Amino acid sequence: MFVFPKRNPMKFIVASDIHGRIELAADLMQAARENNVEHVFLLGDYSHGFQDPVQNKKDVEKLMDLLGRLDYHMILGNCDNQETAQTLGTHNLHKKTINRSGISFTGFGASNPTPFHTAWELSEQEIRRQLRNLPPTSTQSEVFLTHAPAYGTKCDLTSGGVHAGSRSLREYVLNRKPTVMFSGHIHEAAGCEDLLGGTKVYAAGRLDAGYLLVDFKDSFNVEYERL
Ligand SMILES: [Zn+2]
Repeated sequence: MFVFPKRNPMKFIVASDIHGRIELAADLMQAARENNVEHVFLLGDYSHGFQDPVQNKKDVEKLMDLLGRLDYHMILGNCDNQETAQTLGTHNLHKKTINRSGISFTGFGASNPTPFHTAWELSEQEIRRQLRNLPPTSTQSEVFLTHAPAYGTKCDLTSGGVHAGSRSLREYVLNRKPTVMFSGHIHEAAGCEDLLGGTKVYAAGRLDAGYLLVDFKDSFNVEYERL
């Protein structure tokens, strides 16, 4: 008889797109305390603009200072400079996997090309190439955290009715079949959920509107909370 390994319950927060409102980290910390959250994931876009690498680094440093000793991981978005990755140090989850309570968490930052020529955009071909090198995981519950959403769900739908997600991320999710996927980037998709193949996908939107509170027992229970 095969016995499934025992998994521990776990609570975590997924938030994205801070866009310069670094002070909101204090509210996020408060929400984490009130909900007994053990881990926080931030999905990128930390500064107001994307043309000032110095400010970007400063914003991220200030944010990390506020998060203090909380167990947290981050990826950079298309409005962050790649050089800021050095600041993240061991908190950087881009192309990495960590395990917590029997769940694996894999991150992927940047975005597919946008009409705005932002700081960190990758071609679909490049995203596909980099996704091939993601580390394999062995846990049963796999969480995939990205800045850009996968193409063609409610989570990548802009207010103009256009799907702006990445086709390479979509392809990856359909092949890899993570249990759940969380993304940022599309502000107006905040709180949206959908199904992509067998994977439940969720959009975190921008932090000044809200965040996702995830309670994992035998499955992932995801609530969109207003900040
Ligand atoms: Zn954004």
